[in-house]
Amino acid sequence: MRFEILTIFPEFFQGFFEHGVVSRARKTGLVRVDVVDLRGFAHDRHRTVDDRPFGGGEGMVLKPEPLAEALESLGIGLVGAPGREGVSVVLLSAQGRPFTQAVARELAGLERVVLICGRYEGVDERVNTLFCDRELSIGDYVLSGGELGAAVIVDATMRLVPGVLGNEASSEFESFGAADGTIAADVEGVPRSQHGSGGLLDYPHYTRPKEFLGARVPEVLVGGDHAAVRKWRREEQLRKTLKNRPDLLERAQRDAGLSKDDLQMLDRLRAEASS
Ligand code: SAM
Repeated sequence: MRFEILTIFPEFFQGFFEHGVVSRARKTGLVRVDVVDLRGFAHDRHRTVDDRPFGGGEGMVLKPEPLAEALESLGIGLVGAPGREGVSVVLLSAQGRPFTQAVARELAGLERVVLICGRYEGVDERVNTLFCDRELSIGDYVLSGGELGAAVIVDATMRLVPGVLGNEASSEFESFGAADGTIAADVEGVPRSQHGSGGLLDYPHYTRPKEFLGARVPEVLVGGDHAAVRKWRREEQLRKTLKNRPDLLERAQRDAGLSKDDLQMLDRLRAEASS
């Protein structure tokens, strides 16, 4: 899979993709990330890429021509033009639809994702309407530029590309992962002690030492009973989601991601929380 990032600050990405999973994915060739300097497509002495907004008001706006030329140099045409199959051109924007794990999954199924990073007051809207098939926001706050958003999207998406994570199933067992029933009963021959999150949050994780500053690891995790671990982990997933993201529980329930046992556990957790 290939990512192309269009930015006026290419240096921003230096070192960004040179750690951990992203770096490994690039080295194995499963993922390629290219950064394109928009100023390379400006034609005046000052390499101008921005201009004042029509209608007046604060700040500057990124001009459409350098972006259109940069896209052309990548062989990317207008929305709907031939050659756009398997390609998504994304405008990073605080006004965009939320970038979620579900969107990351969709993008991971494509061959190419082109990410346009805005700056100043944003990008001339015609770039959005003519070239972009998605406008994505990484959260309800305003950043100074789209670069952080692009890095977030590359990271979250490429770890879902088949083969990038060592254990194929590991992204299923994370927060926002697959429903349990869709995951093979036995993952790589290890008795299953994990639950697919079914769109909920992950359960808490512990490692050695067993006791730290007087706080002990839950006994069930050191007893070797995989079924008991599984039950405990599911309960903790539900507990954490109920506490931090009750909206996800509603969605999981709507999408039939909660079993009868889950609903019983939830009733108990709700009663516990209100007592
Ligand atoms: N005038 C814009 C508004 O109020 O929505 C804010 C522009 S912002 C200062 C500059 C650039 O940062 C945007 O064009 C966009 O590319 C990026 N940006 C800001 N917030 C973002 C967010 N929450 N998600 C993704 N990109 C964001």
